[in-house]
Amino acid sequence: MDKNVQEERFTEMIKFTPPLYKQRYQFIKDLVWKYKPKKVADLGCADCTLLWMLKFCSCIEVLAGLDICENVMKEKMHRLSPLPGDYLQPAERSLTVTLHHGSVAHKDPCMLGFDLITCIELIEHLEEPELEKFPEVVFGFMAPAMVVISTPNSEFNPLLPGVTPFRHPDHKFEWNRAEFQSWALNIARSYDYSVEFTGVGPPPTGMEEVGFCTQIGVFIRKYSQTKSLFNKKLLRYKSVIMMGFFYVFLYVVKVFKAVYPSLKDEKYLQIAVVSEVVFTAQVIKRNLLDHLHSEHEEYSDGPVEIKSKSQHSENCVSEELAVEKCMEPSVSGNVVYIPLTKIFSFPKVNQLCGTFEKLYKLIADKVTLSSDGSAMVVDIEQEYEEEEN
Ligand code: SAM
Repeated sequence: MDKNVQEERFTEMIKFTPPLYKQRYQFIKDLVWKYKPKKVADLGCADCTLLWMLKFCSCIEVLAGLDICENVMKEKMHRLSPLPGDYLQPAERSLTVTLHHGSVAHKDPCMLGFDLITCIELIEHLEEPELEKFPEVVFGFMAPAMVVISTPNSEFNPLLPGVTPFRHPDHKFEWNRAEFQSWALNIARSYDYSVEFTGVGPPPTGMEEVGFCTQIGVFIRKYSQTKSLFNKKLLRYKSVIMMGFFYVFLYVVKVFKAVYPSLKDEKYLQIAVVSEVVFTAQVIKRNLLDHLHSEHEEYSDGPVEIKSKSQHSENCVSEELAVEKCMEPSVSGNVVYIPLTKIFSFPKVNQLCGTFEKLYKLIADKVTLSSDGSAMVVDIEQEYEEEEN
């Protein structure tokens, strides 16, 4: 039975609002908002619900999940794929989500380089040999800046009807606070981390001595993991591969990968910039034509006919080269010249491109430019055709 469903049944007498599992996830989300880690891995990620929630945290650029049960991971992993909206409006940040099938008892280079590792209700599912290897794998090998471990607090169990002896049939143990804290402090000492204890699911009034229903240890690495130390580790494991010990890595297999569209990718940036430039040019053209229409109507009763250059254009677009010196759009024949400097001055375009050179590079072969490349050339006819249609 799903662990969270079973837990909710147990906690019927003691109603947690929101449900306990949501409080655990919220605890992690709050930590993420506070510390802004870029790379987060969830060990024992099950149906990937926490990963799914974390993909909306804009500071995260790499998300990874690991679980020993491939099927449970695959159940809802489609939720981790980009949606059509992600393609229509690519985010500024890059985001890659991967899922790995394997055990926390094995070292694998795919689990290196994370800032935060979460192990929510995982350790109590580990067999003794796995639990023994766990500290060396997570704190010695992966060595992230922060690790969060949550596990049931057995002191709370008498308040949960039907718990015999554990909250879930797959639990190998459930620790009281002293047991968990002694295990955690020992790890912190051995691997140079500090640890603080807290929890979610507060006890009812008058029963405070039992502590939180879920106990949590938050570990912070005391030393700074230099890039060279990280590279050394990676190199060591890569050289093991080269020596032919492939079997070492057969324990962890990638089962899912999604790369989200991002403006950091030149391809998506170009699409976004071109569409913003075309839109901006249309707005500028419309304003200019409206202005010319109203000027024309002031001095004549006849039908509107755009055949002249704007007053400004007469000053500055007698030769196309002069467009460069002019910030204002102008009409010449049946086209409008819109200086790129004008387009670049629009906040959205400016923010997307950063520099004028970048704007030019991204749009040069995607829109029509004047012969000197200083202005965008937009057809007036197109405007009237659009209106007629
Ligand atoms: N972290 C999730 C949450 O909070 O909703 C799910 C926790 S679930 C109770 C425990 C998960 O740990 C299961 O999905 C199980 O398959 C996984 N698990 C058990 N032993 C594991 C191991 N050695 N390595 C990786 N995952 C393991």
